[in-house]
Amino acid sequence: MLTTQKGVMIILDGLGDRGIPAFGGKTPLEAADTPNMDGLASAGQCGLVDPLFPGMPVGTHTGICLLFGLSKQHTMKLARGPIEASGVGLNDNDQALYFRCNFATLKKHKDRYDILDRRAGRINTGTESLTAAIGQVDLGDGIIASLHPATQHRVVLQMEGCGLSHDISNTDPGNQFKAKGLLTCLPNDPSDSAAVKTASAVNRLMEIIYEKLSEHPVNRQRIDNNLPPANGIICRGPGTLPKVKPLLNQLKLTTAVISGERTVLGLGRLLGYDLFTHDRFTADHNTDLHAKVKTTISALDDHDMVYLHIKATDIYSHDLNPTGKREMLLKIDDAIAPLINDSLVIAITADHCTDTNTGRHTGDPIPSLIYNPRGRVDGCLEFSELACNTGGLGRINSSGFLLSMLDQMNQLENFRPKDSVFIL
Ligand SMILES: [Zn+2]
Repeated sequence: MLTTQKGVMIILDGLGDRGIPAFGGKTPLEAADTPNMDGLASAGQCGLVDPLFPGMPVGTHTGICLLFGLSKQHTMKLARGPIEASGVGLNDNDQALYFRCNFATLKKHKDRYDILDRRAGRINTGTESLTAAIGQVDLGDGIIASLHPATQHRVVLQMEGCGLSHDISNTDPGNQFKAKGLLTCLPNDPSDSAAVKTASAVNRLMEIIYEKLSEHPVNRQRIDNNLPPANGIICRGPGTLPKVKPLLNQLKLTTAVISGERTVLGLGRLLGYDLFTHDRFTADHNTDLHAKVKTTISALDDHDMVYLHIKATDIYSHDLNPTGKREMLLKIDDAIAPLINDSLVIAITADHCTDTNTGRHTGDPIPSLIYNPRGRVDGCLEFSELACNTGGLGRINSSGFLLSMLDQMNQLENFRPKDSVFIL
């Protein structure tokens, strides 16, 4: 009988990079001395991974969805709202429409709202009291809305009612177009009656929230303390909870996700994976890497596949801090040592690349490796963008990378591509 192996996929968020002038044109990974990752590369296979298509930058949710085993088609349809909702535990109402929102600081004029701060000063206390003050809002037409606090200024809007549509525009203009103020929610197709009804309910709600929150004690206190009040919300990414079955569930693998990041945890919960998180997993520079690796090892006792997600690499890129990213890679390299043994398949990859020169996600392919103690060796001697160019995995997409890893684990015996919703 075929012996299966367990696997750990280490996702280093925003890992791949571009040349940094201060590093003589090397990327942070190329400039970092990472003996453990180099050892895995030397004893395994390397390659370059495109999340969706070569050259197309993607967001974290897209990159993670693909690595978590969703097809491209399902990944591209998945809205941010339901991911965020799942991240705060709202994952059992598949009729409701969910939006990903921010508390924001608004100022009302006659016929418009200026956005003074898109994140209400990154408010991190009092948001439960603000959402409780909103309660259940009856918007007419049988539509009921409620707000649910997430991390800091993030908040989830839930709308319930018959005949709601996700096919509407955002009220958040985005940072770049902040000067436009709060946008009016519009149906994407003016002849779509469900979208017209939903958009007009969203617009009513924006006004009600502003009225209710402007005089709230939390906001009066914030104004007294020279902090921007959280007197409104801006929303985007509406959608319903998806009915999808990722590849790992089709294969009946038990799967765990170790992360401190709410989008990643939300996705894991949506897909039915077991979540392991802790206050010390901060999704930031100060995350406890050793505790995460310890949790990974214990999760392997009763899971076939464990995803270990580390956010800090991406945060350093967005902060335009290449030295921080390189130092973080040294710490990660040191922390993963206890994972390496002669029976575990280990993959290292990322959801996307992030350029630390600009802080922007890029469409560059992701340096990636798969180490199988009983697998092939391709002659790559280190783990870096440059070395991965010549690796035996070649240049593949994220779905192909996941399949390659599962194949190394001997877990694809029952995989039938024809019957599967997992389409490459
Ligand atoms: Zn990311």
